[in-house]
Amino acid sequence: MSRKEDSYQLRKWSILARRNAKGICECCNTFVGFRNLNTHHANCYRYYPEERFLQSNAVCLCYKCHEGLHNIYKINWHYKTTRDDYERFKKIVNLHR
Ligand SMILES: [Zn+2]
Ligand SMILES: [Zn+2]
Repeated sequence: MSRKEDSYQLRKWSILARRNAKGICECCNTFVGFRNLNTHHANCYRYYPEERFLQSNAVCLCYKCHEGLHNIYKINWHYKTTRDDYERFKKIVNLHR
C-alpha cells in the first residue's frame, strides 16, 4: 500500500471510529466532541500492521487520556502498546475519578 493510500485509509478509519464514539472518550467517558477525539490503535500500529485499519482495534480517547496512556508506560508513540495496556490504563483512570 502506498503511503498516500495508507494515510487515506487511516483517515477513514479514524473518522468512522470517532463517529461511532459520538464525541465521547471511551476511557473517561467525557464528552469532548468529534474533533477533539484521538483515535488510538489498541494494538499498536507498528507491531500489528494487520490490525491497522480494523474498527475493532480503534479506541477513541480525549487528548488527556491518549497522552496519559502513552506517558504512563514511559513510552513513545511508537512503542508496542497492546489492548491490555489500554485496559489497564482505563482501570487506573476510573479508579481515580
Ligand atoms: Zn478521556
Ligand atoms: Zn495512541
